[in-house]
Amino acid sequence: MTAQVFTGGDILTMTEERYPEALAIRDGIIIAVGALADCRASVGSGAEVIDLGGRVLMPGFIDAHCHPLMLGQSLTWVDCSPDQVPSIEAMVKLLAGRGGTLRAGAPIWGYGYHQGRLAERRHPNRQDLDLVATDRPVMVMHTSGHGIVVNTLMLQRMGVDDATPDPDGGVIERDAAGHATGLLWDAATDLITGEGGVKITNHGPNFHIPDAQSELLDALDLAQDIFLAKGVTTVLDAQVSRREMSVWLAARDLGRLRLRTGMLVLSSLLDEVLALGLNSTLGDDQLAFLGIKCYADGSLTSYNANISADYAFDPCHHGHVYHSDSELKDLIGRAHAVGLQVGIHAQGDAAIRSTLDAIQQAQSMFPRSDVRHRVEHCGLPGDEEIARMADLGVFAVNQSQHHFLYGKAVARAVGAGGDRYNPLGSLHRAGVEVALSSDAPVSMPDPLATVFAAVTRASVEGGVVGDLSESITVEQALWAHTMGGARSMHREAKVGSLAPGKFADLITLDQNPLKVAVAEIPFIQARVLG
Ligand SMILES: [Zn+2]
Repeated sequence: MTAQVFTGGDILTMTEERYPEALAIRDGIIIAVGALADCRASVGSGAEVIDLGGRVLMPGFIDAHCHPLMLGQSLTWVDCSPDQVPSIEAMVKLLAGRGGTLRAGAPIWGYGYHQGRLAERRHPNRQDLDLVATDRPVMVMHTSGHGIVVNTLMLQRMGVDDATPDPDGGVIERDAAGHATGLLWDAATDLITGEGGVKITNHGPNFHIPDAQSELLDALDLAQDIFLAKGVTTVLDAQVSRREMSVWLAARDLGRLRLRTGMLVLSSLLDEVLALGLNSTLGDDQLAFLGIKCYADGSLTSYNANISADYAFDPCHHGHVYHSDSELKDLIGRAHAVGLQVGIHAQGDAAIRSTLDAIQQAQSMFPRSDVRHRVEHCGLPGDEEIARMADLGVFAVNQSQHHFLYGKAVARAVGAGGDRYNPLGSLHRAGVEVALSSDAPVSMPDPLATVFAAVTRASVEGGVVGDLSESITVEQALWAHTMGGARSMHREAKVGSLAPGKFADLITLDQNPLKVAVAEIPFIQARVLG
């Protein structure tokens, strides 16, 4: 038995208990929180007493929506994020440079550009990527993961030409003359995984790119290193296909799973899940199936979220939906009917409305009091949608770093009301439960940067995104990244706060985010204990 008592620093419990003097653990479980003498007594005199030396002790952060395998995989691709690539010209140069390091014919893959933060203020196209290479496939994925640009060779290998019709839930972009530009959005990305790869049709963007299992396991190791370095101890993989499931299981079996992991299986597999009788969660405290993920609309950062108003840049554009309203009702309804939690990607107000209509119908047929369906992202809900979410007990699983990185670009594209992106203040005032997360690799796992963005609504372009009434306090943001995340995963009895009986998933911070200037918060260093 190993017992330890921590004292000598601020302890943030995320419960009613304010700054207790000490915390005692034994064999990875929290035994007592409170006065030092009581904590010592609770674990016996043999316990090791650890002086925090002024560091802050708190529960590990929970990232309630992320894509760890995709994060690890994308880190081996060319980094085309705005910090690295200010223009299409620079992108072409960088990609061509990578080509020089690869064997002949091997594909060049890049990730992370955003059209609003490229000097040209447009997407790259196949002609741009033909400048990188014409003798090997080239693909660059949009930061949202909802779209890709490919060179002409890859477009041909994917079997796409000017006559290929748009698939349900997706768009093959064409120029004024009707020629495919090389840009593929949403369900059209299903072509990228090739023969034998994971196919998800119109159930989401397909980023389930095949690779050798050993490579994928290495990618997952890399991603876990990054989460742990930022103080994240529990994650939710928000889009699990057979690729993710097999890698998570292999990591567990090989002793390489270091994060507590929940999984939402993509709705393309709903029939199989129901056929198996998976009517509830399955797994253990380390790795568990939690429910179903489905998609209502496209991404907001690609300006394809389904909004009811006209986008400012195109009065005919209202975004993409993956399913008709009746299909969405069917998917959510069938999962709900057997008791499964559903996380629904919905960004625009129109998509959120369709999602809530589906949840409301499902609840009226099969009332379930604590199922905690989740709107993933929830970027631009209107007041009516926010009130309905509160009524229906629907969680908002939000990513504040997205408005920090892309909020001003989104506001320009959406027009009036677009700067209300991520209205955390309104969600809180209405009583909607919020979990904060990264959606990594869309933004990197960095809970304290997320807290900073939620509190300040700051933009990387300078200034503030919209109105400060849509911000939340540091305390609320920390809660949303710990207990909020735990509750959104039905895991609050085990993780998310420091209370007796819970796992001792402990981290320390070198400064207390509740006591430093807000501008200092992103620079606080986190460290996972044990
Ligand atoms: Zn996501």
